[in-house]
Amino acid sequence: MKYIDGFRNPLAAKKIIERIEVLANLLKASGRKVSIMEVCGTHTMAIARFGIRNILPENIDLISGPGCPVCVTEAGYIDAAINLAKAGAVIVTFGDMINVPGSDESLAQCRANGALIEVVYSPSAAIKLARQFPEKNVVFLAVGFETTTAPMPAVIQIAEGEGIRNLSLLTAFKLVPPALKALMTDPELKIDSFLCPAHVSAIIGADAYKPFTGKEGVPCVVAGFEPLDILMAIDGILNQLVRNEASVENQYNRVVKPEGNLKAQALMDEYLQPVDARWRGLGLLPLSGLGLKNEFERFDAEKKHGITVKKGKEPSGCLCGEVIKGKSKPTSCPLFARGCTPDHAVGPCMVSSEGSCAAYYKYSL
Ligand code: SF4
Repeated sequence: MKYIDGFRNPLAAKKIIERIEVLANLLKASGRKVSIMEVCGTHTMAIARFGIRNILPENIDLISGPGCPVCVTEAGYIDAAINLAKAGAVIVTFGDMINVPGSDESLAQCRANGALIEVVYSPSAAIKLARQFPEKNVVFLAVGFETTTAPMPAVIQIAEGEGIRNLSLLTAFKLVPPALKALMTDPELKIDSFLCPAHVSAIIGADAYKPFTGKEGVPCVVAGFEPLDILMAIDGILNQLVRNEASVENQYNRVVKPEGNLKAQALMDEYLQPVDARWRGLGLLPLSGLGLKNEFERFDAEKKHGITVKKGKEPSGCLCGEVIKGKSKPTSCPLFARGCTPDHAVGPCMVSSEGSCAAYYKYSL
């Protein structure tokens, strides 16, 4: 289907919504309620911003998943970064992480007490800071999914090339497919399909979702971020469910290839290896993260500084772990919009610009 007026054409949206209603009615006639999980924080924001959740038929439920890298990073990681800062390191981080609560304080609070914590917008800024503070240890908070991870090998390449010895990465890279597997096999969850991420899929490719489809699987549709992208993906999912099919569809094929970005994958394979990783809400998932290969351990902050990232203490009363798994909606949290708001966030899902609680707060109240 081609939309010459772009991806916000109201008439085209109306037609797709009508089709969604027909498909939803067919599913309803056979007693089916459908849960579609969006596995990307940017989708969560777009769905809230364009009001898509509210226009869907009542038997179609969009639930938010673990798509925000800041949200899935446990408090113990923040604690480790704070301990390094207190020991005199320069901590370099992307913006959202600075306000996420650790067990006792956030990086912002630590900075207010004099620690050197720098917010950057690109990993290459960590190199600049390492050059700027040659007498200090500079630790980059290397958090993110496959999209954010892809540029990291270049940082190590530059540091190696220039002989920079005072830069290390505190890695908490996460891989999306192992999280999908954990969600699909969780007996407490009933997920009928995945609306698959756009940016991550540009790296790993649409074919990466094939293991979640087939006879025992669910429909997986890769979608872009415009309203028509998301509506077409929902239409594709419902079409598959009506036909009792479960395959991968790539609605975002203007960006995502079946095989993904092979160059980025090769570079990541050269420097990084799969490791077990802890996720807020999902716990320890085997081989669900990426860590530096042994030959690059001089850039590994944990090894270099002799520290171990522990689990940490989650904020009291916060349901972020349940929200991340799609077990609770943000509005089910007793603190939502009461004790917890973007200005006084209790948990990471309200802090992060991609967090489910922040999306609901910004667009649903
Ligand atoms: S509303 Fe706040 S306290 Fe509740 S789950 Fe969301 S971030 Fe946590």
